[in-house]
Amino acid sequence: MDFKEYNGVWVFIEVKGEKIAPVSLELLGAGRKLADKRGCELAGIIIGENIKPLAKTAFEYGADTVYAYDQPIFKQYRTEPYMRALLDCCSKYKPEIILYGATPTGKDLASAVATDLPTGLTADTTELDVEAETGLLLASRPAFGGNIMATILCKKYRPQMATVRAKVMKALAPQTGRTGKLIEETISLKEEDIRTKVLEIVKETTKTVRIDEADIIVAGGKGLGSADGFQLIHQLAETLGGAVGATRDVVEAGWIDHAHQIGQTGVTVTPKIYFAIGLSGAIQHLVGMKNSGLIIAINNDPDAPIFQACHYGIVGDAFEIVPLLIEQFKKAVSSKEESYAGEV
Ligand code: FAD
Repeated sequence: MDFKEYNGVWVFIEVKGEKIAPVSLELLGAGRKLADKRGCELAGIIIGENIKPLAKTAFEYGADTVYAYDQPIFKQYRTEPYMRALLDCCSKYKPEIILYGATPTGKDLASAVATDLPTGLTADTTELDVEAETGLLLASRPAFGGNIMATILCKKYRPQMATVRAKVMKALAPQTGRTGKLIEETISLKEEDIRTKVLEIVKETTKTVRIDEADIIVAGGKGLGSADGFQLIHQLAETLGGAVGATRDVVEAGWIDHAHQIGQTGVTVTPKIYFAIGLSGAIQHLVGMKNSGLIIAINNDPDAPIFQACHYGIVGDAFEIVPLLIEQFKKAVSSKEESYAGEV
C-alpha cells in the first residue's frame, strides 16, 4: 500500500430528516482541526436523494469539498447502496482518514465499509488527534470497562477509519457564505440488485423522551435508596417533559436500563437543563454531563462533589425537595394553560 496516494480527511455526512445530523456537524469541526494540522483538505461525503443543497451547510461548517451521491436509490438508508457509494468514492479519491458518527447508521455503514476495504475501524472514539508528519490518526476511547483510555492506531493500512460519539466533539461556528467545491458522483445501481427493501417506516410512539435528544434531563443516583424511591426521578421528568438519566450505580442496582446511564461508560449528554438528584458527582459521571447548559443539584451532603460542578445547588433531602418541585412545576404548567385558555 503506497501511503502517498492517500490524502485528506473525510466526514461521512449523515442526513436526518431534511438536515445534516448534528453529529456530522460536530465531526466537521473535529475533522477541520485534523486537516489543518495535517495541512490537507477536509471533505464531506453525502449520500441520499435531493441532498445536494446540504453541501452549502457543510461548507459553512468547515468542509472544503463535498462529494455528493444524489440518486433516488439512496432515498432511505440501506447498508448495501450506501456502502457501494462510499467504496466508489474511496477508490477514486483515496482519503487518508474517514470519520463517521457513532450513530446506528454511522456504525452500520462504517463496519460494512471496513469489511470490504483492507483496513480497520476504531469504534466509539471520544478523542481524536493526528500526527502532522505521518498522518497517523490517534483515535482514543475508553477501554476495559472505562478503566483506561486506549489510543488505537492503524499503522499499516489506509484509509484510517473511526466512528465518533455524538456530543463529544464541538461543531465550529458556521461561517455564513463560506463555500467550497461540490463534486457530484453517481453509481450505476439497480433496485433489483439490492437485497434490502424498505417496506414501511414506523415512527416510535412511546411517550418517553430520548436521552440523547432531550432538552431537560432529570438524573438520579444511589441516594434515591431503591427502585421505588427512583420513581421520584421519573415523576419529575414526566412533569417537565424531560428524559430520565442515571448513574452507573443505579444501573448496576437494576433500577433502570443501561441506555439511561450517563458518563464515561454510558452516554454523553448536553441538555439545556440537567437535574442531578441524589448523586455524588463522581468524575466518571461528570464527564458525561458537565457541558450541560444549566446544572441543578440536590443532595443532602453539603460536601458532595456535585456541588463543585453545578450552577445551582440545593442541600437537602430529595424526598422532601423533589415533591415540592413537582407541585410547583405542575402549578406553573396549569396556570399557563389557563392563561392560554383565557386568550382563546
Ligand atoms: P453515590 O456515590 O453513592 O452517591 C449517592 C449520593 O446521594 C451521595 O452524594 C449522597 O450524599 C446522596 N444522597 C443520599 N441520600 C440522599 C437523599 N435522601 N437526598 C439527597 N441526596 C442523597 N458512574 C456513572 O454515573 N457513569 C459512568 O459512566 C461510570 N463509569 C465508570 C467507569 C469506571 C471505570 C469506574 C471505576 C466507575 C464508573 N462509574 C460511573 C461509577 C462512579 O465512579 C460512581 O461510583 C457513581 O457515579 C456513583 O453513583 P451515585 O452518585 O449514584 O452514588
